Amino acid sequence: MADAPLRVAVVGAGPSGFYAAEHLLRQERAVAVDLFDRLPTPFGLVRGGVAPDHPKIKSVTRVYDKVAAHPAFRFFGNVTAGRDVTAEELRRHYHAVVWAVGAAADRALDIPGEDLAGSHTATEFVGWYNGHPDFRDRRFDLGQEAAAVVGVGNVAMDVTRVLASDPDDLATTDISRTALDALRASKVRTIYLLGRRGPAQAAFTNPELKELGELPLADVVVRAEDLELDAATRASLETTPDREAEKNLKTLRGFLDRGLQGRPRRIELRFCTSPLRIEGPGRVERLVVGANRLEASPRGVQAVATGQEAVLPVGLVFRSVGYRALPVDGVPFDDQRAVMPNDRGRVLATAGGAVVPGSYVAGWIKRGPSGVIGTNKPDAVETVGCLLEDAERGALPEPTAPDPDAILALLTARGVDVVSWRDWQALDAHECGAGAARGAPREKITDPGEMLAVIRRARQAP
Ligand code: NAP
Repeated sequence: MADAPLRVAVVGAGPSGFYAAEHLLRQERAVAVDLFDRLPTPFGLVRGGVAPDHPKIKSVTRVYDKVAAHPAFRFFGNVTAGRDVTAEELRRHYHAVVWAVGAAADRALDIPGEDLAGSHTATEFVGWYNGHPDFRDRRFDLGQEAAAVVGVGNVAMDVTRVLASDPDDLATTDISRTALDALRASKVRTIYLLGRRGPAQAAFTNPELKELGELPLADVVVRAEDLELDAATRASLETTPDREAEKNLKTLRGFLDRGLQGRPRRIELRFCTSPLRIEGPGRVERLVVGANRLEASPRGVQAVATGQEAVLPVGLVFRSVGYRALPVDGVPFDDQRAVMPNDRGRVLATAGGAVVPGSYVAGWIKRGPSGVIGTNKPDAVETVGCLLEDAERGALPEPTAPDPDAILALLTARGVDVVSWRDWQALDAHECGAGAARGAPREKITDPGEMLAVIRRARQAP
C-alpha cells in the first residue's frame, strides 16, 4: 500500500497538539491525523487556562479551526488515552503517536498548612473560573477580606487580576457563570502577590504587569525598598541585559510614583518574600512569610532567607508556582523533570536512553511548563520534523490495525461516545448562542454529561 497515508495519532487537543497536526497535514506526502482529547471539547489551555478577559489570545482557535477543516483530520473528543485506549493499542493503529498532553498538575510548595481549607492551587481557581469540568465543583471562600497569591508568573497575574476585577467587566467574557456569581459577591479587598526573588527576576511579562495598573477597582502597592536593586541583581543585569526586567522595573516605579488612588481594592506586591507556613485552626487564617536577600549563584540570582518573619492576615492562599506534568500509562516518564524523556521530540525509554520507535512528544510534556502559546509552534514543528525524518528512513513501526475505522470500532465497542469535530461544532454553536444572552462570547457548559446531551440532541436534529 505505497499510497496509503501515514497515520498519526496526536494525543491532546491543546496548542501543541494542534500545531503538530497542522505541520503534519502541511506535508506533500499523505498524512492522516486523528487528534484525541479526554474532554468533549478541544483547545486545552486556550479554553480552560487562558484568562477570560484575554479574548485576543483565545482567538488563536481560529487557526486551529482551519487545521480541523482539513479532510485528513479527525477529532476524537471524550477519549482518554491510557484508559479508554491504551498506549499500546494506539501504537497498533497508527504509524506514530505524538503525546501532547500538557501539564495537568501543580508543583507543590512543601510548607506546613498547604492543605488547609482555604489554601488552593492556582490551577483549581483558573480551571474553575474557566468552567473546566475537572474544577466545576470547587468552591472558594470569597467571603474573606484578604488573599495571598504565591508566585509571580503570568498565572499569578491572571489569578490576581480576576480577583481584583470589576465583575461587570468580566460579565461580557466567557468566564463561567458560577465564578461570575461568586465574584460578584466577593469580599476580597486585599491581594498580596508574593515573589520569592526580586522584581528583576519576576517571571511575569510586562503587558500582564501593566494590566494590574489598569484595573478600575484596584490600587497597586509597591514597596520602595523592593525597587532598590541589590548588588547581585545589578551585576547580573550588567552582564546579561534583560529588556523585560527593565520594562517591569519601570512599570513598578510608575506604580510607586502614582501612589494610592483611593480605589476600593489593593494589590500589594511583596518581593523577596517566601511563604513559610499557612496557619489557622481548621482553615487558613494567616500566612507566615520570610524575608529573603538575593545572592549571585551559578544558577543565577537566588533567594536566601534572612530569618526575618512577618504575618499576613489572609483567609485565602493561591499557590501559583508552576505546573507539573503527569505520567501516561505505558509511556516513559522522567519523574525528576516531569516530562516524557525525549530527544528533540523522539520519546526515549529513559532520560538519555534508547529511542522508542513511533513515539513522539510535543509541548509542555516535552519541555516543561514554559513559554506562551506561540512557543508551542516551533516546538511541535521540531517534533514533527523528527517524525517525518523517521518515516522517510523507514524507522516507524507498521501498524497492525491500520484501517481508519478500526480505532472507532474499538472505542465504540467499549461504550465510548466519541465526539467528532462536527459534534464539537454543534456544542460550540450552542454555547455561543447561550452566551449572547449576557453579551458574552459564550456560556460554557461545565458538565461533560450535559455537553454530551447537547451533542446527542444535535446529532438527532434533521
Ligand atoms: P512560571 O512562569 O514558571 O512562574 C512560577 C512562579 O512561581 C515564579 O515566580 C517562581 O519563582 C515561583 N515559584 C516557584 N517555586 C516557588 C516556591 N517554592 N516559592 C515561591 N515561589 C515559587 O509559571 P506560571 O505562572 O504557572 O506560568 C506557566 C507558563 O504559562 C509561563 O511560561 C507563563 O508565561 C505562561 N502563561 C502566559 C500567560 C500569558 O501570556 N498571558 C498567562 C498565563 C501563563 P522563581 O522564578 O524564583 O522560581
